[in-house]
Amino acid sequence: STFQDLGLNDELLQAITDLGFVTPSEVQSKAIPILLASETDLVALAQTGTGKTAAFGFPMLQKIDFDSRTTQGLILSPTRELCLQITNEMKAYGKYCKGLNVVAVYGGSSITDQAREVKRGAQIIVATPGRIKDMISRGLVDISKIQYSVLDEADEMLNMGFKEDITDILSNTPEDKNTWLFSATMPKEVATIAKKFMKNPQEITV
Ligand code: AMP
Repeated sequence: STFQDLGLNDELLQAITDLGFVTPSEVQSKAIPILLASETDLVALAQTGTGKTAAFGFPMLQKIDFDSRTTQGLILSPTRELCLQITNEMKAYGKYCKGLNVVAVYGGSSITDQAREVKRGAQIIVATPGRIKDMISRGLVDISKIQYSVLDEADEMLNMGFKEDITDILSNTPEDKNTWLFSATMPKEVATIAKKFMKNPQEITV
């Protein structure tokens, strides 16, 4: 299939052309049509390096309202490196999405600077669990209007001991949001989180 076939809009297709992507990867071919066609939860078993950032990033960018400055999308990732990598990819994928503001929130860096960036109006926040939990409790981030949440590398996040933080964060987002969980493996802990926070998720494996 082609990116056109997947139902992506012109802003995203232009960015895809600029990036030189020609063919959707398997996880992209499977996830993007599902996420664009319906408001659904999703569990995707996919390794790193399979193009999964675009698999959740393109649909999120297509669904979010950039005329609003409300935070509508939340992407949780296990490490600062991955957080920054996802943020850069989202900015590249969304380069023609007028008004888009993606902000990275992670530990080991100034919370004041990150809070200032968020306050300017971030429709999408890419975060590590500990730092965003801290910012939520200090009233520096508002996740009460989140419509799409992504748990990226869910198995890694749980391995690193973020279960409580994730539970806390998701408990403070709207019930009717959609959650898209990506994980390389599906140990019991991941299945438990999926069961607790997801409603009839569609499932894909690559
Ligand atoms: P990811 O697994 O999301 O970290 O992506 C791995 C790398 O593949 C990143 O550098 C992406 O920019 C690149 N990539 C993602 N999707 C495609 C695609 N369909 N064609 C070519 N490169 C891609």
